[in-house]
Amino acid sequence: MVARRDSAVGEQVPAEAKKATKAAEAGAAARSAAAEEPGGKPVRKSAPKKAAPAGKAAPAGRITPAGRAAPSKKAAPSNSEPAVKEGPGGKAGDKKPPKPPKTESRTALVRRARRINRELAEAYPYAHPELDFENPFQLIVATVLSAQTTDLRVNQTTPALFAKYPTPEDLAAANPEEVEEILRPCGFFRAKTKSVMGLSKALVEDFGGEVPGRLEDLVKLPGVGRKTAFVVLGNAFGRPGITVDTHFQRLVRRWKWTEETEPDKIEAAVGALFPKTEWTMLSHHVIFHGRRICHARKPACGACPIAPLCPAYGEGETDPEKAKKLLKYEKGGFPGQRLKPPQAYLDAGGIPAPPLGAG
Ligand code: SF4
Repeated sequence: MVARRDSAVGEQVPAEAKKATKAAEAGAAARSAAAEEPGGKPVRKSAPKKAAPAGKAAPAGRITPAGRAAPSKKAAPSNSEPAVKEGPGGKAGDKKPPKPPKTESRTALVRRARRINRELAEAYPYAHPELDFENPFQLIVATVLSAQTTDLRVNQTTPALFAKYPTPEDLAAANPEEVEEILRPCGFFRAKTKSVMGLSKALVEDFGGEVPGRLEDLVKLPGVGRKTAFVVLGNAFGRPGITVDTHFQRLVRRWKWTEETEPDKIEAAVGALFPKTEWTMLSHHVIFHGRRICHARKPACGACPIAPLCPAYGEGETDPEKAKKLLKYEKGGFPGQRLKPPQAYLDAGGIPAPPLGAG
């Protein structure tokens, strides 16, 4: 069985996130400068801009109602910030961006949804699963451990776990108390010890010590639901999957891609808007955006690259300067969640997370 670490990452290396700015020339220069990733990979150009509804002020970097390009693209970020792309926000004093029409045809919804995904691909060309893993076993265990805690905390915990128990056989035969001690920083460590040991036992007894690469097999494993299964399929086996986590649920509802509330129904509704081949990277883009900009409590609307496409614009901070201060991880100049992030992330100026106890 071949593990594909960050398999989907690197297949898409779109252009640098677009920046709203005072002058179209600055935006053009920024795009030009970003025409190639540091690794020399070609980048994907953004799709033509869509007209905004009439009567609404177009934000910087957006398209006017008549389809004319508004003054566009923000200047490059300041030197004090990482090279990782930042979502273009409006300049100070911008009016509210136009919103998608209240009644939207199916075709318009599909177009808007795909446009959002393209914009996010440009904002996060380095999007990737934020759990460190080197093989399917590590990924499935890390995903189970990530319940009720951050990927960062899991990433800081699993090096010790996998150093001591590198295979399902090792973990299935472990002393539970010793595993509990290692997993303590992840919270719910007793329950999680039972889960990962039970999972390992099932892998040994039912699948010859290998993580199966089929959805129907994965969901039979103890503690593995569709979300975990799709994370594993999409990122360790390169098979398309939509990961409906808390960020995904919140954002797709804000964007009115669906009104469904159950993960399985959200997965089906959103999956129908995109080709299957895009599902895995779509999940990463949405989750990256939810973690960095479109937060649960205070979305940074004023620094959001997809504001003109978002029906929920204004739920959060719209002042560009204040919104900028809400940005998290590399967008705010902070370390990411992975101790071993993919090269594309490092090339873009992303900072690895510190090990446990280092900060
Ligand atoms: S709610 Fe605000 S931050 Fe979230 S996607 Fe919409 S405009 Fe962007």
